[in-house]
Amino acid sequence: MASEIKKIGVLTSGGDSPGMNAAIRSVVRTCAYMKVDCVGIYRGYQGMIEGDFKPMDARSVNNIINKGGTILKSARCDGFRTPEGRKRAYEQLRAEGIDAFVVIGGDGSFTGAMVFNQEYHFPIIGIPGTIDNDIFGTSNTVGFDTAMNTVVEVIDKIRDTASSHNRLFFVEVMGRDVGHIALNTGVGAGAEEILIPEANRGLERLLESLKRSKKSGKSSSIVVVAEGDKIGKSVFELKEYVEEHLPIYDVRVSVLGHMQRGGAPSCYDRVLASRMGVKAVESLLEGQTNFMVGVQNNKIILTPISKAIKGHTKIDKELIRVSEIMTT
Ligand code: ADP
Repeated sequence: MASEIKKIGVLTSGGDSPGMNAAIRSVVRTCAYMKVDCVGIYRGYQGMIEGDFKPMDARSVNNIINKGGTILKSARCDGFRTPEGRKRAYEQLRAEGIDAFVVIGGDGSFTGAMVFNQEYHFPIIGIPGTIDNDIFGTSNTVGFDTAMNTVVEVIDKIRDTASSHNRLFFVEVMGRDVGHIALNTGVGAGAEEILIPEANRGLERLLESLKRSKKSGKSSSIVVVAEGDKIGKSVFELKEYVEEHLPIYDVRVSVLGHMQRGGAPSCYDRVLASRMGVKAVESLLEGQTNFMVGVQNNKIILTPISKAIKGHTKIDKELIRVSEIMTT
């Protein structure tokens, strides 16, 4: 039976991440390959409500695979949280003849899509685009790998200056609820300590470890701190605390902030986004809806979007053990 879906919309929503453009490109080109129409929806759900649409063909996405950010722009949209806003969005989609959409974003964007599907039985598929890697049902989200590479590159540079002055640096990285970026970059950049929300080992232990590090003759120390770590102090308070208790240290703080979201996507993210976009469109055309595309053991799979939203990602315990051994 031929698919009833003839026109697919694609949008990016919530926080942006590197590789979103590669995912848009993949959705658009797969539609072209499958001979279904594709429409870009600008500014996330805000653009959906306002009918900010633009037809896209294979050539509309030339030269974007290597670009950070999102050509469709992203937005947060309170209107879509209301039944009236979603009704308006539905009317706009129908008026444009859009039969289904692919949303590239995080769990907030997926929740919006799921609510919309429940109200209007509108076919939707999600592609996880966030640097935090905090989505259940996929070992990697689009943007995570790039963000890790960006952070490691910066910490390497901080290390150069830290070791020239025998300094201790607290480097704050993104990760409000999860410490995937902190743990991986901490190991990758050879940090002396890594503070993540999932494992609060206390201030005493941090002091002990810094003392040991000094005694062992290290010329610089880097402590990677996830935004949401549970040690109970901000990076600036940590600096004061360590200066008070370990005056031998000259302490500095570096908060990396939004630079972690930017930059050209890594090869891994480009390939992942390309694979996910193909799966998203093919799945919609096969009549699948309410799924998120993910990757597990290098296989592209579907997870019910309700599970992706509710589930929690687990920190890699083995990597925590590795990090402990590496800081000896
Ligand atoms: P992310 O997708 O990165 O997690 P947000 O949490 O900001 O980002 O969500 C993006 C958008 O998704 C919101 O601005 C809103 O338009 C929509 N959204 C989020 N949660 C809901 C909800 N419960 N109902 C309807 N729309 C929602």
